[in-house]
Amino acid sequence: MHEFTPEVEELAKEILDYSLVRLRTDPPLDGPKTAQELYELAGNTITAKGLGGHEALKLFKEVLATACISTDHPRYLAFIPSAPSEYANLFDLVVGASALYGGSWLEGAGAVFAENQALKWISDLAGMPATAGGVFVQGGTIGNLSALVTARNTFRAKRKDVTRWVLAASADSHSSIKSAAQVMDVEILLIKPDKDGALQGDACAQVIDKYHSENPGHQVFALVATAGTTNLGIIDNLASVSACAKERGIWFHVDGAYGLAALCAPSVRPLFNGIELADSFIVDPHKWLFAPFDACALIYRNPKLAKRAHLQKAAYLETLDEDDEWNPSDYAIHLTRRARGLPFWFSLAAHGTDEYAKAMERTMDVAKDAAEQVRSHPNLKLLIEPSLSIVAFERVGWSSEDYEKWSDKLLADQIGFVTPSAHKGKPILRFAIVNPWTNEGDIAAILATL
Ligand SMILES: *Cc1c(COP(=O)(O)O)cnc(C)c1O
Repeated sequence: MHEFTPEVEELAKEILDYSLVRLRTDPPLDGPKTAQELYELAGNTITAKGLGGHEALKLFKEVLATACISTDHPRYLAFIPSAPSEYANLFDLVVGASALYGGSWLEGAGAVFAENQALKWISDLAGMPATAGGVFVQGGTIGNLSALVTARNTFRAKRKDVTRWVLAASADSHSSIKSAAQVMDVEILLIKPDKDGALQGDACAQVIDKYHSENPGHQVFALVATAGTTNLGIIDNLASVSACAKERGIWFHVDGAYGLAALCAPSVRPLFNGIELADSFIVDPHKWLFAPFDACALIYRNPKLAKRAHLQKAAYLETLDEDDEWNPSDYAIHLTRRARGLPFWFSLAAHGTDEYAKAMERTMDVAKDAAEQVRSHPNLKLLIEPSLSIVAFERVGWSSEDYEKWSDKLLADQIGFVTPSAHKGKPILRFAIVNPWTNEGDIAAILATL
């Protein structure tokens, strides 16, 4: 260990060869095995003398990797898949080889500078002021939580009379919002979206005002809108929800983990009008901006408020807080951090932003075509017209069990990975299309089994 021997060089070649094959070809879909099965194949891998690099890599390639579903497979359409660009994946190797520290300007100035330019691209697309800024965190869950902690901290400084803090969000908001409320030990006020599933400002105003009048001492500190729900891709009415928040001095946060990626797609940009009024928002480049796991862009209108909430104080950290240098650690719940925005930055810098808009439009075209294929299928019923790239539908006459059986068989036959979801208490299927490799024929191949 810690010696660059000929074996290290040999292993480097093997690892690069494997990585190139994985990048170049359609990956196999693969699928999970039980821990028992894996133990039978892999045995105990941690030993006093070690397996050697070649053997450990062989074990990974043959046993472990094949028990992981390829999230970038063109017919992986469950949850939200991933589709990192070749450049982004390649640069992840560089980040891994470079021992970069992304927590402070002192240690990682160059990396942080590049990450900040990538964040600025997103922030400018949203129409945020030039003073906006933020940080790449691990995922949307941590991004939402960090933003909401900032929101409460900001309100707390102004209001000493509050006995209970309350977070308001759509009943259809992501589970991470409910989880944030739990972690922060605050109440959550769930507001019913309209009949099309979108949260509206007047409904928020009515529910929040009624709640405040009935619960003295309680105060809503943040109102969360979703820009692209995970299940159906619905975008809340950002302009009216933000107006409701502003009129009441409440923090306006937008959870765009999936959907806000489409800020760069001209055809749907107007759907996000109102985003420019957000106090904070998030988007996950690891979902629909072609970056590898894990990267969530968290952006604040006024980053100083975030620093006030998140700066860690300790004797050994004091040198870092001496001047106005940008320390990414100060803007979320973390200290040590990987420069996880760099693979995204590299691909964006190398390809240019036009390529991103084009790839985005391509996935939405495939989603439109998929909706058309569903509509003309004799056994299927389209739930809603896709506004972004999620296509949700019913298989007429099927029980939950039928859906489960179909999904299991689709994976076992290595045709695709599509898991059942639910809408209004009924089982449904959904395709989340974020991969420019996914084409109309892939959709047809899956629909042929329904
Ligand atoms: C995926 C998602 C999240 C959670 O993001 P992670 O990166 O998985 O933590 C939050 N909100 C929405 C709307 C999402 O789609």
